[in-house]
Amino acid sequence: MKILSKNFSEKLSDILDKKKNILIVGHYNPDGDCMGGSLALFHTLTKAGFKVSIAMPSEYPAALAWMPGADAVETNKDKAFEMIDAADIIFYVDFNAPARTEHLARKLSESKAQKIILDHHPNPSEEVYLTFSDTSMSSASEIVYECIKMLGFDAYVDKTIASCIYTGIMTDTLNFSVNSSHKRTFNAVADLLSYGIDKDAIYDKVHNNFSENRLRLVGYLLYEKMKIIPELQFSYMLISQKELNQFNYKAGDNEGIVNMPLSVSDVQVSLIGIETEDYIKISLRSKGDADVNLFSNKYFKGGGHKNAAGGRIYAAFEDAEEIVIQAARAYLK
Ligand code: 5GP
Ligand code: MN
Repeated sequence: MKILSKNFSEKLSDILDKKKNILIVGHYNPDGDCMGGSLALFHTLTKAGFKVSIAMPSEYPAALAWMPGADAVETNKDKAFEMIDAADIIFYVDFNAPARTEHLARKLSESKAQKIILDHHPNPSEEVYLTFSDTSMSSASEIVYECIKMLGFDAYVDKTIASCIYTGIMTDTLNFSVNSSHKRTFNAVADLLSYGIDKDAIYDKVHNNFSENRLRLVGYLLYEKMKIIPELQFSYMLISQKELNQFNYKAGDNEGIVNMPLSVSDVQVSLIGIETEDYIKISLRSKGDADVNLFSNKYFKGGGHKNAAGGRIYAAFEDAEEIVIQAARAYLK
């Protein structure tokens, strides 16, 4: 579904002003798309002469630290609060509800700044000044690119900006294996290549940049922890803090692991649960028609897309397996 506010580009051009403070905000646990879209917008607006900053509710994965401008991303809560207070305009990139920003949510909701959603998740929840939300887009980064063109700012696009957008499209489409059947996405990629981006180097930096420990963690999880319930075509893995510590786990080390069980022909839905201090963080992926957005919404207080969603379980780690099995039996039967 597409929601594009009436006269989006005119209304956005009208409010953009070189004296105003523009803040770009991403979601909790920013991924390649959230970082790529936010940074592309940041670089473009900065080059166009605007005052722009970026705040995110948590750190980005180490595998994205190479992204141009990543060091400008503010993750300190107090500083982010100050930035929200000072903002006249706030872009929400790759999310559509303040709740996705965790401890920044209330502050964002209360802010009187004019808010603009640039996102591709279903069901935008907050009334904002402008929305460009399209679930048929590969990524928020592709939407940012469209937005840049609609504003007539494509003259500012350079290799750096094109690399950021490409990273977002590449990661959110799982390297063009999902959410990328639209010709428009490949036209965008063709444009991006014309700026001289090195797509193979970007792939390498994102996917071949992990520690040895992380690969051993993958081996351990697949061998020891992955469980499959054949009649439900369902796979799950639950990982405790203790196990993570054994492998010197770093933020982002779980990236991609949830997809691995889907390589088994009969597995349609894959879940991983990672114990954190406050809850068990759930990631869900599916193939085909199985809708994990609804699954997460119904059983794990979360959401996302049809084939990729996240949520959480508020329970002791020891009780999580039973909760997961019950939920799967109820939803996937
Ligand atoms: P991941 O499993 O990579 O954390 O998230 C997969 C997808 O689900 C992403 O599109 C992400 O934005 C969304 N998502 C992850 N966690 C949550 C959550 O707690 N609530 C909602 N609504 N979406 C989530
Ligand atoms: Mn995204």
